[in-house]
Amino acid sequence: MTTRVTFIGAGNMAGAIIGGMIDSGFARQAITATSPDDSVLAPLRERLGIHTATDNAAAVAEADVVVLAVKPQIMQDVCAGMQAAIQARKPLILSVAAGLPADTLEHWLGGELPVVRCMPNTPSLVGAGAAGLYANARVSDDQKRSATELLEAVGLVEWVDDESLLDAVTAVSGSAPAYFFLMFEAMEQAGVELGLPADTARRLAMQTAYGAASMAMDSDKTPGELKRNVMSPGGTTERAIQHMENAGLRDIMQGAMRACADRASEMA
Ligand code: NAP
Repeated sequence: MTTRVTFIGAGNMAGAIIGGMIDSGFARQAITATSPDDSVLAPLRERLGIHTATDNAAAVAEADVVVLAVKPQIMQDVCAGMQAAIQARKPLILSVAAGLPADTLEHWLGGELPVVRCMPNTPSLVGAGAAGLYANARVSDDQKRSATELLEAVGLVEWVDDESLLDAVTAVSGSAPAYFFLMFEAMEQAGVELGLPADTARRLAMQTAYGAASMAMDSDKTPGELKRNVMSPGGTTERAIQHMENAGLRDIMQGAMRACADRASEMA
């Protein structure tokens, strides 16, 4: 039987997941997306051939999975508006909203619901996301499989068995695209100081990050081994790595990621 999925909110994150689901062969007719504004929905209907609705309560009435994809600040009101319909059906609730605990969402929707909370990241928008997922005790194995299938349409999925670990996921992948963007900025600036045109330095830095990630993902070797393989004694790479180690790069990463996880936990 086809799983029927309703997306509450049809913005960036919902659009990315829906696009990925269709690319991976999910039935368009089993997908519904909602927004209060039909002009947001019209292109989705026309481009993707999915169902759309402006009434959230009606749209969840036959859903097996309800994906909560509105901004966290309006989530409570949105949940209140469809509480009765959700309680009548009790679908799997899959939230991609930052910082809202599973218990809170369950409570806002009237209680006793299977809830999966997901911490995605922005590369989901180009099908290369990395998401951490947590399921409350009411989620069945089949529902976990459904949630995995939906999020795998836009990238890697890793489950955690303790909700507080989503704060660590926020530090390692949720906020982490920005760490690499900072690194690209710094590499571009350093390249310019060494005499390269800025766009040349930027392209070389980004392609090198892409290549290093592809190589590490394809390899049986650990990142430490791959690093040592490109560090010939007395060579250029060794000199650069020694500089980074002496300047405390590991401590900087640890401090930054601890600060990120602490902030995620304050916001939950
Ligand atoms: P977004 O592009 O603003 O999408 C939210 C959509 O919800 C908008 O189209 C909005 O319409 C619509 N909406 C507003 N009120 C609604 C209602 N009552 N019923 C149904 N839809 C309604 O936001 P987003 O970036 O996709 O983020 C969605 C969620 O994903 C957020 O909770 C965010 O924390 C989470 N998230 C996003 C990312 C990311 O990369 N974008 C990463 C991690 C987590 P209007 O524009 O007309 O108000």
